[in-house]
Amino acid sequence: MSSPPAFALAPSVWRIPVAPSDGINAFVLQGDDNQVTLIDAGMPWAWKRLEQGLAHIGIQVEDITNIVVTHAHGDHVGNIERARQESAAPVSAHALDAPFLAQGQCPPIDPSRNFRSLLMKWGRFDKITVSDTFTDGQLLDLAGGLRVMHTPGHTPGHTSFVHEPTGVLITGDVIHYWRSAIRIGIKLYCHDIALNEESAHKLSQAQCETVAFTHGPHLENEGQRRLHEFLAQRR
Ligand SMILES: [Zn+2]
Ligand SMILES: [Zn+2]
Repeated sequence: MSSPPAFALAPSVWRIPVAPSDGINAFVLQGDDNQVTLIDAGMPWAWKRLEQGLAHIGIQVEDITNIVVTHAHGDHVGNIERARQESAAPVSAHALDAPFLAQGQCPPIDPSRNFRSLLMKWGRFDKITVSDTFTDGQLLDLAGGLRVMHTPGHTPGHTSFVHEPTGVLITGDVIHYWRSAIRIGIKLYCHDIALNEESAHKLSQAQCETVAFTHGPHLENEGQRRLHEFLAQRR
């Protein structure tokens, strides 16, 4: 049984699985005035999945008016430059990840993990033209208000977002959801594992109902409770 091409997380907020089994997710926010924000976009091989997800919502790549990225890893930004070129939408990212996006190279990984060869092989993606950078706490004027939560560690500029009108938290890779459990983000590609742990606890400050992950299915209603329980176990 294949999953639908897009899931409604709230009115005007969508999750598009851009890998099988909810393995990687992109997100779409629809605002007033035909504003369409794309958050992340998956890998190049998943371009068709992205298009199908958008079509399910009733939009096309050309309709995208803003592009936002969670962090400079190829599994999330591999399609961003193509989406930017086809839509002419400006790309925004945290200032600390912007240089890596411009270089098309993911940041160095935690020195305690020696996966350098893997990094060299999988860590590259198409160089991205970044127009704007954002900082922690900023409220982006997108779809009624998208709050920036700088959650560094996984990458230096890793960012989670809260869509304030609907209470949807997009965690990014700080944590993920796999086999019915919230888990700490995958350490394989982590820039600073200890800092990522701190950032996971920062997520408890998010005012949210639905918790959505860049890896795994989302949690509706019980999202915040599950998140707090998970974090309490790690103290
Ligand atoms: Zn990542
Ligand atoms: Zn990832």
